[in-house]
Order: sequence, then C-alpha cells, then structure tokens
Amino acid sequence: MGNRWVTGLVYLIIIVAAIALVFNQVNPPSQRREVQLNQVLTDAREKKIERIVVGSDQQRLDIEYRNGDRATSRKESQDSLFALLHDAGVDVQDMPIIEVKGPSFWNSVVGPLSYFILPLVFLFMLFFFLRQAQGTNNQALSFGKSRARLFTGDKPKITFADVAAVDEAKEELSEVVEFLKYPEKFAALGARIPRGVLLMGPPGTGKTLLARAVAGEAGVPFFSISGSEFVEMFVGVGASRVRDLFDQAKRNAPDIVFIDEIDAVGRQRGTGLGGSHDEREQTLNQILVEMDGFDSNTNVIVIAATNRPDILDPALLRPGRFDRRVVLDRPDMRGRIEILKVHCRGKPLAPDVDLEVLARQTPGFSGADLANLVNEAAILAARRNRRQITMQDMEEAAEKVVAGPERKNRRISEEEKRIIAYHEAGHALVAHLIPECDPVHKISVVSRGLALGYTMSLPEEDRYLMPRRKILADLAYHLGGYAAEQLIFADTTTGSENDIEQATKMARRMVTEFGMSELLGPIAYGQKEELVFLGREIAEQRDYSDDTARLIDQEVRRIVEGAYQRARDLLQEHRAGLDLIAQRLQEVETLEGEELRQLLDRAAQMKQPVDAAAGTSS
Ligand code: ADP
Ligand code: MG
Ligand code: ZN
Repeated sequence: MGNRWVTGLVYLIIIVAAIALVFNQVNPPSQRREVQLNQVLTDAREKKIERIVVGSDQQRLDIEYRNGDRATSRKESQDSLFALLHDAGVDVQDMPIIEVKGPSFWNSVVGPLSYFILPLVFLFMLFFFLRQAQGTNNQALSFGKSRARLFTGDKPKITFADVAAVDEAKEELSEVVEFLKYPEKFAALGARIPRGVLLMGPPGTGKTLLARAVAGEAGVPFFSISGSEFVEMFVGVGASRVRDLFDQAKRNAPDIVFIDEIDAVGRQRGTGLGGSHDEREQTLNQILVEMDGFDSNTNVIVIAATNRPDILDPALLRPGRFDRRVVLDRPDMRGRIEILKVHCRGKPLAPDVDLEVLARQTPGFSGADLANLVNEAAILAARRNRRQITMQDMEEAAEKVVAGPERKNRRISEEEKRIIAYHEAGHALVAHLIPECDPVHKISVVSRGLALGYTMSLPEEDRYLMPRRKILADLAYHLGGYAAEQLIFADTTTGSENDIEQATKMARRMVTEFGMSELLGPIAYGQKEELVFLGREIAEQRDYSDDTARLIDQEVRRIVEGAYQRARDLLQEHRAGLDLIAQRLQEVETLEGEELRQLLDRAAQMKQPVDAAAGTSS
C-alpha cells in the first residue's frame, strides 16, 4: 500500500526531472566564446557575472554574464573555484552562483545528439523504473544514493611511505591508524576517539593522498566524496546522499569517510546578505547530524580536506566533530628532495640527475607540482627515445610546470627570496633579543596563503593580561621585518603591509583604549558601537576634539616609530647575526626546533662584528 504511494512519487519526480533536463538540453549550446581564467576572475570582481557552472571534470567553467553573454573557460582541476575567486578578491559569500554539474553523461558524450535521443531515453527509463519499482519497491530511488567511491584491497595500496615531507601530519594521523587497527585497546580505557580530522593546506600538498594513506596503513575501506559533488541538481539530494554515505560507512566499519573540498558545503552559514544556498546548508546540517549520531563504538573516522579553513562554518570545528586539525604546508627544500625521491622511485635516472639541485631550483612547488615535474620529465625522456631520465629532462619539465596554465603559486626569484629571508630573519632576531617577546618556533620563506614567508612565535603560557612593556616589545617584533629590509637593502617592500597594519592598530589601542600613553592619560577615546545588522562591523563614534585627535595621531606615531627604531638598532648591532640567519634561511627555507634555537643564540652573540670585520680588513 505505502509502497504504491512511494512508487507514484518516484514517477512524478522522474517525469519532472526529465522535463527539466530536456529543457536544459534544448537550450542550444550557443556559440560560446572561450575566455581566460584571469578575465573571468576580473569580471567576477566587477560583479558582471551571474552564474558559473563548474563542469564535472572540475576543469570546464561555463559562465553566464549578467548581460546575457555566455562564455567558457578552464581551470586546473585541483584548484577550487571558491579559492580562486576568493584569492582574486571576489566576495564569495555574496555570490550564490557556483554550481557544479554532476558527471554529466549527456553533456560530454551524447552532446548534440541528445536533442532527439533524450525523450526516447526517458520513455525507456520510465518503463524500466516502472518494472523495477514493482519488483523490489525502492530500487528506483538510486539517484539519492551516495556516489562515495569505495576503495579497497584491489587498488594499489597507498601508505605513509608514499607521502613525503609531512612528518608532523603523519605523526598525528598515525594515532587515527592505531585506532582503526586496534579499537578495543582504546575502548578498554574509555578513551574518546577522534570523530573527525580536518586536513588543511593549499592545493596539491597531499591532502587526498594522505587521507588515502591512512586507510592504506590501517587496511580499512575508504569512502570518498567531494564537497562539490554534493551541490547538485535537486534540493534534498545532498542531504540524502550524506545519509546514505554514512549508512554505508557504518555498515563497513571500521573505515574512513573522506569528504574532499568540504568548504564547498561547509561555508559559514547565514553571513552573506545575499541569499544562502539552501541545498548546501541542508547538506552541511546532515553531515553534522551524522557525526553527532555516532555512538562511542562506531569505528568510523571522518577525514575532511579543505584549502580554505578560514571560511568554514564554526559548527564544523566544535568538539566531537572536526576537532583534530592537521596542517599541510608547501614543502621546503628538504621536503622537496623527499617528495622528488618518492616520485623517482622505480624510474630509471641518469647518473647526472641531482635531486638536491632540482629541489633548489623549484621553490614554491607543491607536492603535486613535483609529481607532475617527474612525470613530465619521464615523458620527455620517452619521446626522445632515451632509456633514462636525464637532468636536462628534469629541468625542462620544471620549466614546463612553471609555465603551466594559470599556475597560481609563481616561482619566487632568488632576489625576492633574499629579501623575504632577511625580512623573516629580522622578525626572528628581534624577538629573540627582546626578553618580553614570545619565543620563535619556526621561520620560513615558503609561502603560506597570502604571506610570502612567515615567522611563528608562540607564547609559553596563556596570557590574559598584556603589560605595556610586552606590547612595546611586540611592536618592535612586528616591525623587525621592515627594519631588516631597510637596513640591508636601504629600501622596503610591500611585504610589510600586514606587519605595519598590526603595529599601527596596536599602538592606537594603547593610546585610545589602554591608557598607555602618558600624554593622553587613562582615558578611553572614541565609543565603539557594534552594528549588529552588518555582521561584525564596528563603527567608531568620535567623542573628542580635533586637537585631541591630532594628539592621538602624534602619540601613535611616536610609539610606532620608537618601536621601529628599537628594532633597527638591535638589528644594526647584530648585523652579522642577521646575515647568518638570512643566509641559512635561503639555503634550507625553513628553520625550526633545535637548529633554529642554536642559530638564534649564535646570532645574538655576534655583537658589533661589523666593526671587527672593518678592523681586520684595514
Ligand atoms: P591535495 O588533495 O592536497 O590537493 P593531492 O593529495 O591530490 O593534493 O596531491 C596530488 C598529487 O601530488 C598526489 O597524488 C601525489 O602524487 C603528489 N603529492 C602531493 N603531496 C605529496 C607529498 N607530500 N608526497 C608525495 N607526493 C605528493
Ligand atoms: Mg585533493
Ligand atoms: Zn613580516
């Protein structure tokens, strides 16, 4: 009885879907012009674009302009369109326009023929479904089934040995492997098992690879689905797919569910003023519901990957969900050697191939770029009928990868690397020389996100109060990069933008909020008002005179300049130490741990060696 109704509903849905598809199809493919990806990004920024549809191959883009024009473009399949748009300065929250087509048999294979064939096909399908549904009731509902692919033993097994240069991440994930292998051990002690692990890192750094390696190491099935696949044609399908995926996973436990590009569904909800995507929200909610619904002995671990952790919905990051986070960075010099080694395994290399030299020539390359490089080199060698891959093949392949279409992470020139190295060394040395600064844990000239290089300093303990001395120390630390550039090159670059912004903000707060300027006293200047309806925007109301405003500006300036002077004096005094760190940083690109500590100590002791050197040479 009930089944009859379900069956009837199925027919109705199929018919509606068929009509929708046919209409879509009859819409002629029109003579679309091909435009460059850059142009698309520019147009998106200028809000000329109505809609972008990403093809199922993750490369083809169909663009509909507001003025009715249509065009096509291409992107690299590993790049997320969201990320590209975001990086180009497009307000992605405000653009409910990106749709991803499911693997579309109609578009790619049948193409123009489909105008005649489609109606026939649908009639046939309808007939088919009718019989099926009568037989085993709900088989017809298969389009709600998840498309998670199941990888098991028959695939070549990927293990941690195939993933190079991400030792920290591997270490963190080995715990997950342990759990999947010996769940009883943890259960016996009542340990709460991690539910979800979020892998974060730029495209091509091995997130997908690593997730598979975890499954391979643990010897469990691996269900994978991409966030962008969820965002599909019919409302409600995403959510039902999630349900189905997790059902499957629970039946096959212990195993791994891998959600790639989770940012496609897990973007912050309800922030943009432009309408939010219902479908996405439902899908996201379903993921959360499923993860919350695991009981303590469900041996399913969800691994998700994203290259845009900053836009994720905070609900995803709550305890019991993706509370483990693993960061993958682009590899440094040593990392690149390791990755090259992994990909050269089993390939005949000529004796002249020096992977270290190659690694040195490829700053900014991701793991995927390096894999690509080795593959291109092998192809070149084969085309030249060689038995072995030579260094020349490798170098040509590197050029090819660099020149590849729309490569986002351009290669950094030696000169730029030198500047970045001095900049970061400046931060680090200043932090090391001023006792109130937090200790430096890591410096790197490998770009991460928008920053070209970075210095990571971490407080030794949680801090709730910031003494004035500490803020002043931090200001000098922030300006250490700028001071180093000025000192060494007698010039500065745009690389200090963020440092300067932070320092200025902090100095202004010292004066107007914390009463840390003697001249202006313990008075709060300016009233902050939260404009709730505009999100987190804060408007300031001025409640002081123009004279006071001028004084505030003067004080801010005095403080910032004082901090700059302090940083510069310190660096001048330890110029040789600065050279030492910058030099080493250019060689190895990342410094951390014991090596960094020793280097900083040595640098700190190299006082006034400029004069000493001058003395010996004269
Ligand atoms: P992501 O998912 O982070 O975009 P992938 O895991 O898809 O990157 O990486 C694409 C390819 O690049 C991998 O299949 C592998 O060949 C290569 N690769 C990336 N990172 C590494 C690494 N750390 N070690 C070895 N190979 C890597
Ligand atoms: Mg991936
Ligand atoms: Zn800086």
